[in-house]
Amino acid sequence: WNSKLPQQGVNIFSKMSALAQKHQAINLAQGFPDFPVDPKLVDLVTSAMHHQANQYAPMPGLSLLRERIAEKYRSFYQINIDPEKEITITNGATQAIFTTIATLIHPGDEVIIFEPAYDCYRPTVELFGGKVVEIALAAPHFAVDWQEVADCVTDRTRLIIINNPGNPSCTVWTKEDLLQLQQIVVQHELFVLSDEVYEHLIYDEKQHQSAVLFEDLRAHSFVIASFGKLLHCTGWKLGYTIAPVALTAEFRKVHQQNVFSVNTPMQHAIAAYLDDPNYYHELSLFMQKKRDLVIAGLASSRFEMTPSSGTYFLLLNYKAISDQPEMTFALELIEKQGVALIPLAPFYQNAKEQQTLRLCFAKKEETLLRAIQILNAV
Ligand code: PMP
Ligand code: GLN
Repeated sequence: WNSKLPQQGVNIFSKMSALAQKHQAINLAQGFPDFPVDPKLVDLVTSAMHHQANQYAPMPGLSLLRERIAEKYRSFYQINIDPEKEITITNGATQAIFTTIATLIHPGDEVIIFEPAYDCYRPTVELFGGKVVEIALAAPHFAVDWQEVADCVTDRTRLIIINNPGNPSCTVWTKEDLLQLQQIVVQHELFVLSDEVYEHLIYDEKQHQSAVLFEDLRAHSFVIASFGKLLHCTGWKLGYTIAPVALTAEFRKVHQQNVFSVNTPMQHAIAAYLDDPNYYHELSLFMQKKRDLVIAGLASSRFEMTPSSGTYFLLLNYKAISDQPEMTFALELIEKQGVALIPLAPFYQNAKEQQTLRLCFAKKEETLLRAIQILNAV
């Protein structure tokens, strides 16, 4: 069999979740909430189903939902986005990423990514014959040297993929970072895939620097978001892509072929639910409390924490406890202590060992307190 993805195995999230289940460990590995979705939102889905919203949605997504998204950008960022021509509803961020890459990448094109990188970027680029050029950033600050980025651009470079706030770096890029990116993108006429699924999980009153806020950058960018992260329903697989009119038209040519349209009743429900912009503000505060609970709970443990500025993850360095490789240490934590975390090394092409594990704090307080108690004794 002539595999198109010969190196691809089961991803690290599925692997660690399966191990957590096998050993009945607390799963702080894969990023998903263990608390319920708001029953009001569930009622809105069933109500849409009872009102016969059960057939194909329009190919670009329900107009009302796209209007809601445009309203969010108006009220949050004072930016106008055309809901008809610049927003497409997707089957989660994963499909939005896949479709963006499929839209842009021809065999031989180069794509710059920053590591540690979310797992689906590289294989998707390779599936379409692209070549990934990775820039490895180091814990704990994961600072970008923009000169290094500029030096990586060749005449084959077509796309730069960014993820801000970053999973698993938990960093939030500054306005200066985005301005530096914009300069490179404009100078070399590149495209940007800006994965912003953690846009509203951002702490300590930091401001999210969306790619749409920078006029010239926006003209080259596909901005991707996920309702799974926003509404605590990762299993619903709904998200969207924002791109300028001409780029959206190209994106939709591909979108039409691989999904055509996405789940109708859930689009109705989300559109009805997101009529209050306060929701977005409350979400950050809700999740920041969880982050702070873990930080305070582990303050006197032997783990060294990198406080997360964004996402619902934080990083734990265990160098004071062990010099084992990350996977060995993570496996012992699952098997002997009953807590599942994710090693950082698999997020790098050349597994960079930094004695660091990722912890997901999108969990009920009781789950976090149980995990804190265990981790304090390690
Ligand atoms: N990008 C990043 C950075 C993620 O962490 C995730 C996983 N939540 C996704 C994309 C995929 O999002 P979705 O579940 O909506 O496909
Ligand atoms: N985004 C989730 C994480 O980072 C996992 C998604 C998945 O399992 N593919 O943990």
